[in-house]
Amino acid sequence: MVAAVSEIGDALLARLQAFMAAHVYPNEALYEQQLHAVPGEVFRVPAIMDELKAKARAEGLWNLFLPHSSSGAGLTNLEYAPLAEEMGRVYWAPEVFNCNAPDTGNMELLDRYGTEEQKRKYLLPLLEGKTRSAYCMTEPDVASSDATNVQTRIERDGDHYVINGHKWWTTNAYHPNTAIYIVMGKTDPTAPTHLQQSQILVEPGTPGIRLMRPLSVFGYYEPPKGHGEVIFENVRVPVENIILGEGRGFEISQGRLGPGRIHHCMRIVGQSERLLEQMCRRLLSRNTFGKPLAERSVWQERIAEARIEINMCRLLTQHAAHLMDTVGNKAARSEISQIKVAATRMGQRIADMTIQAFGAAGVTDDFGLAHTYARMRTLRIGDGPDEVHNRTIARLELAKYKPPREKK
Ligand SMILES: Cc1cc2nc3c(=O)[nH]c(=O)nc-3n(C[C@H](O)[C@H](O)[C@H](O)COP(=O)(O)OP(=O)(O)OC[C@H]3O[C@@H](n4cnc5c(N)ncnc54)[C@H](O)[C@@H]3O)c2cc1C
Repeated sequence: MVAAVSEIGDALLARLQAFMAAHVYPNEALYEQQLHAVPGEVFRVPAIMDELKAKARAEGLWNLFLPHSSSGAGLTNLEYAPLAEEMGRVYWAPEVFNCNAPDTGNMELLDRYGTEEQKRKYLLPLLEGKTRSAYCMTEPDVASSDATNVQTRIERDGDHYVINGHKWWTTNAYHPNTAIYIVMGKTDPTAPTHLQQSQILVEPGTPGIRLMRPLSVFGYYEPPKGHGEVIFENVRVPVENIILGEGRGFEISQGRLGPGRIHHCMRIVGQSERLLEQMCRRLLSRNTFGKPLAERSVWQERIAEARIEINMCRLLTQHAAHLMDTVGNKAARSEISQIKVAATRMGQRIADMTIQAFGAAGVTDDFGLAHTYARMRTLRIGDGPDEVHNRTIARLELAKYKPPREKK
């Protein structure tokens, strides 16, 4: 059950639920069929995706994630939470409403920090769902959970910047519609640590870019988006492609990650609800040693734990969203980190429990559970590993009790 937050949010939620029931759930099998229809053609967009996008857009269920913006539904983060939760129930559904990662984070970045020309060229087609985008921060050669380690160089040469670097885990690198990369790199390695990095817009077809290979997540290549390893070798882009100016990269990535992180958590709550539903139905339908599995106390205990954890995570998500709306992303950073850790751990635990309830069937692709587990596990690393978020939470907590002279 989702808490009512506003009339506009409730009305949109009812329309979204009706759309999911009429068009998304009935097409889950078709989506998978179309995705894998052509052997050897891994990264293809299923035709049903484009059909559903057109329908959702026509019904005004589009760009619901953009808060306080004329380009989107103008919802607050708190109002958006139940909508993202609903979409999260089917892993590919967020894209139907143009609300999927990593494009939402990239659109928000361009909306907030882009020039009018950058918005016209790159944001508009993204908002229309015609193109996709990628965010290139992580590098294989350095521990990228600390973004100050990023080594890619972005050097000014007349009216161009020249980019040299090695990235990986570039989500959407293989999506056939990806039209723009946002690349993070150092413009001035001698500047103070947090002013060395910049972000720049690079079109995928620019000479010097090499897509090395798609990376697999526990064996899944996650089409149609894919996660790519990408080399940038003397890639030249016009100076006007820099976002916000040299040395502002760190500031931009902080602004981008807050909303992106909480959107993941909202969707995880929805995905976990779906798992719990699958688990209960399965346990009710199968018997061992003379009675339904659902009557075994061990399973009742697990079901209860799952219910408690989902409800706790939903409330913490809503609390963090409310703080983002009222005191801002920076002041809400402990709560954003708290829910990033709590929701991903909860999702992984419930996915694991559901697989156990299904027995061997759980580790096949027949019920989507193995892939769901892989996604949940992965989210404990993507957008910052648990330890890095716990570090943020602990530092903010400790700061409350430090003697004044030790406070920074
Ligand atoms: C499916 C998926 C999609 C992704 N998509 C993108 C994308 O689109 N764009 C992009 O740029 N990146 C993306 N990433 C990369 C992701 O953001 C990084 O993997 C993440 O930031 C961690 O960086 P790293 O892999 O270099 O790990 P490292 O920084 O090498 O860290 C390794 C481990 O060290 C531990 N650790 C780190 N810091 C601390 C600490 N302070 N205290 C204790 N332990 C610590 C953690 O356990 C961590 O897992 C994606 C990753 C995945 C798995």
